This record gives sequence, structure tokens and C-alpha cells, in this order.
Amino acid sequence: MGLLDNKICLITGGSRGIGEAIVRRFHAEGAEVIFTYRSSSEKADALVADLGSRTTAMQSDASNFEAAGKLIEDVIAKYERIDVLINNAGITDDTLMLRMSEDQWDRVIDVNLKSVFNLTKQILRPMLRARSGSIINMSSVVGVFGNAGQANYAASKAGIIGFSKSIAKEIGSRGIRCNAIAPGFISTDMTDELDEKTKQSYIDNIPIKRLGEATDVADGCVFLASDMSQYITGQVISICGGLNT
Ligand code: NAP
Repeated sequence: MGLLDNKICLITGGSRGIGEAIVRRFHAEGAEVIFTYRSSSEKADALVADLGSRTTAMQSDASNFEAAGKLIEDVIAKYERIDVLINNAGITDDTLMLRMSEDQWDRVIDVNLKSVFNLTKQILRPMLRARSGSIINMSSVVGVFGNAGQANYAASKAGIIGFSKSIAKEIGSRGIRCNAIAPGFISTDMTDELDEKTKQSYIDNIPIKRLGEATDVADGCVFLASDMSQYITGQVISICGGLNT
């Protein structure tokens, strides 16, 4: 028996990194997994082929409101309900504020924060009808304490925290939970962009003395998606090796 048996789970940005680890872990726990990606169709197809059953990949731009609506509509048409939504899709486009263009600001806010509005807004009615659901939004420790060169990213991730707490308050009485996860520095394509010196300086400040693995974050998602966290909503769970301590 898996912790997520019979749960219909929709995960944005599941083709790589943390999202891929969530897809694999949820599948192993018995969930029916639907994940989205923006452009890596080969990786998405390979993941579906590898897992074999109970996994569907859909190309959908999370930053586009209409596309998010169509995605939810299509998933509901096929599976009749969605038990768990993980707003995981995200990007970085780092630079110091003096150099940041309006386009760099808009793109990061649209993909990281507006996407969370897009998907949550459109999934709410089906979840309200079902009187149950768990929404998990991928924030970051950077959204809590900021980071030089990441004002756009940090703002988007801080926005996710305020959004998640507000939604938790709006719909807790209707059986729907909404939490945020704040990963620290996790080894994925996103952090591979950092040079070794920067990575080492982060590790020096992490009590557990290593970067996190995508599976560390996926484990936290299983907990928040499962019935083991029935009394937890409006929280920010840090998965950061103690970095924020
Ligand atoms: P990643 O390896 O770069 O993967 C990003 C995923 O998001 C990919 O599947 C990508 O799809 C998808 N994506 C990007 N833009 C999208 C869009 N507009 N619509 C739909 N999907 C889109 O990133 P990651 O490191 O796994 O990060 C996952 C989440 O965790 C992000 O929200 C990130 O901010 C957050 N996070 C990461 C870290 C870290 O250290 N890695 C720390 C804290 C928080 P394609 O493959 O098609 O591009």
C-alpha cells in the first residue's frame, strides 16, 4: 500500500529536477500522476516511458492563464477530480537590480508567481465541489530571507508564501489545505548554473553540510499530499538542511 494510493496528482514542471523527483516519488506511492512541462518534450516522454503506468505528461505553459484553465479542464474531463496540485514550475533570471530589465522582472514573476494564481484559481471550483484537496506551492528559502542578485526570484517566492497562507485561510473550512515548501539549495539544473566557489560558500552555511537532493523535497511533498498531514495548512515547510536556522 502506498501513501498516495488512488490520489490524482497534478504537478507543474515535472520534466526535470525537483518536479521529476516528485513525479517519481508520487508514482512509487501509488498516485496517478499528471505532470506538465514547458519545452522538454523528450525528457517528459522518457519519464513517462520509464514509469510505465499511471503517468501522463502534458505540455502547458503555467504562466498562461488560458492554458492553465485548459489543462485543469482536460485533467478533470479524464480523471473527474484532482486531489493534489503542486505548483512547482519555476525559473531564475538572476542579475543585480541596477541591471535588471523589466522583461527579466515580468518573466520571473509570471512563471513563478502568476502561475500559482493561474492554477489555483482554476482548480478551486473542482476541489470545492469535492470538499477536499491539497495544494502545495514551491517557494524557496530565498523568499524568506532574500538574496542579492535575485530580487525578481525572491519577490516571486515571497509572494507565494503570502498567497499560500491567504488561500489556506479562505478555504480551510471547505476541506482544502494549502501549504508552501521552501527548499534551500537543491542540486538541479537550476543550481548547476552556480560556480563551485559559490556552491561551497552555501554549503559552509548549511548545518547538514551538503546541498539538498531533489528527493529530499519530494519526500516533503509526499507528506503534505498524503492524509498524514490532514491538520496542516497555511504553513511553510523549509527543506534546507537547516540553512534558515
Ligand atoms: P529546474 O530543474 O530548472 O526545472 C524546472 C521545471 O519547471 C522544468 O520541468 C521546466 O520545464 C518547468 N517549467 C519552467 N517554466 C515553465 C512554464 N512556464 N510552464 C510549465 N513548466 C515550466 O528547476 P528546479 O530546480 O527543479 O526547481 C523546481 C522548483 O523549485 C522551482 O519553482 C524553483 O524555484 C524551486 N526551488 C528550487 C531550488 C533549487 O535549489 N533547485 C531551491 C528553492 C526552490 P522544461 O523542462 O520544459 O523547461
